[in-house]
Amino acid sequence: MKTVHKGTVPFCTIGRKGNVMRARTFLLAMLLSVVMSFGLVACGQTSSSSASSSSASSSSAQVTSGAELNADEQKAFYITEITDDIFARIKGKSFKDDCTLPREDLRYLHVLHKDKDGKTHEGEMIVNKHIAEDVLDILRELYKNSYPIEKIRLVDEYDADDERSMEDNNSSSFNFRFISHTNRVSKHGLGLAVDINTLYNPYTKVVDGKRIIEPVTAEPYLDRDATFDYKITKDDLCYKLFTEHGFEWGGEWSDRKDYQHFDMPDSKIAEWYPENVEKS
Ligand SMILES: [Zn+2]
Repeated sequence: MKTVHKGTVPFCTIGRKGNVMRARTFLLAMLLSVVMSFGLVACGQTSSSSASSSSASSSSAQVTSGAELNADEQKAFYITEITDDIFARIKGKSFKDDCTLPREDLRYLHVLHKDKDGKTHEGEMIVNKHIAEDVLDILRELYKNSYPIEKIRLVDEYDADDERSMEDNNSSSFNFRFISHTNRVSKHGLGLAVDINTLYNPYTKVVDGKRIIEPVTAEPYLDRDATFDYKITKDDLCYKLFTEHGFEWGGEWSDRKDYQHFDMPDSKIAEWYPENVEKS
């Protein structure tokens, strides 16, 4: 459903007699509505002025559908920098002692999400500043459309242990780590990858004839033809929104599958973190 601009009165409805008072009232109302909507954006996105201007995609890719949010719901979707309080929660956990990503490159997202029973929950996620606005838009659209996400908690609540977080079906993004045997940082380590409904959308790869599954408890969900809650498919809104915002889906990789995983393409990593690109 397209957004219709309600309350915009065309100028021609102001009487031909040129009632100055009505025209003034009209202009005042217009001014007030502009100021109010600006205020709403400002309070909904604390510190957004310092958020990145090089967003992953243009806003034209947004899907406008689902129920419109009320004022309280709108306020629940916001972005902040990593305040001291938030930093205290992640230091030594997802923000490890050897973290090479500056704290200033990260953003905290506060969101709402609905589980499979339609119950609303508060969610928290830390992502890279370059994708903060995109991920907020995506999670807002998913909420508006009641796309089920069970948990969106900081991985720090699981002591930054990915396996524990995934077994609990938690959705998250930033967790600093280097790619094994390299000095390059993984996309989750840069906060440029997002995992959704992780238990039901596992990672899997065959190594030396042996199948690896992460989380280890996700074997029942490897059958992607089976029907179960929280399954991400190529037809669903989660896939559609992430890919519209420039992300790639791990469910489409050929040498391995990572059904929970959406990340920014290597070309964006090279643009934003050129020092992190593999030297050949
Ligand atoms: Zn991932």
